Amino acid sequence: MRLYRYETKIIWVMVFLFVLPANTSHASQIFVKPTYSIYKNSTLVPNEKHGNKKVILLTIDDGPTIRSKEMIDILKKHGVGAIFFINGSHDKDMPEMIKEEYKQGFMIGNHTWSHLNLKKEKNFSKIKEEVNKNTKLIKDKTGESAKFFRPPYGEFNKEIKDFIKSEGMTMMNWSGAAKDWEKNTENEEVFIGNVMNNIHNGEILLIHEHLWTVKYLDKLLTTIKEKGYTFIDPNQITTN
Ligand SMILES: [Zn+2]
Repeated sequence: MRLYRYETKIIWVMVFLFVLPANTSHASQIFVKPTYSIYKNSTLVPNEKHGNKKVILLTIDDGPTIRSKEMIDILKKHGVGAIFFINGSHDKDMPEMIKEEYKQGFMIGNHTWSHLNLKKEKNFSKIKEEVNKNTKLIKDKTGESAKFFRPPYGEFNKEIKDFIKSEGMTMMNWSGAAKDWEKNTENEEVFIGNVMNNIHNGEILLIHEHLWTVKYLDKLLTTIKEKGYTFIDPNQITTN
């Protein structure tokens, strides 16, 4: 009898140590009911009439970089989900990072292999190669296909959009940006101001992984939340 009770205790300890944590990690693998749709490739609208409109989706482009890990830590601290739109050509310097982003519950999006302006490219087989090479890398790293595609510079045409759809991805541009590619955003006020002066319901917000972006990210997330906005999990978005 004593042995039986001892064994039961051990089983419960193992459940708490291994089984429960295993089910709560990997957020992107848990089924989340889609509650938002993308409107005109760039903003989010609730599927339900009375759904919360005051939401924001954070998207982070052009990684992975040496600063990705620090960004993950800040996002985790705030409980904020995001899509990392990656370029496969940036993977070679840090081959574990895409896997890490995915493991930490973030979504990986396709942003082409080498950040090619697809609309300017005349050779369609080159366009296909840029997209598909990145698709393969994401699948290799995460075991899943990317759900969303972001064209570099936001540039695409109908032919490109149809191709992206035929590859099982949904086009996603943005409706607001920190404009952190501009040198003056190294100034905190300018950086935060670029976002807050344009903040709106259903915004898809674009940031990058620059040194100053990481430096102001904590403040940015706090400021957005203080305005009453909720960051949504990318898994809540309907795909086409
Ligand atoms: Zn980009």
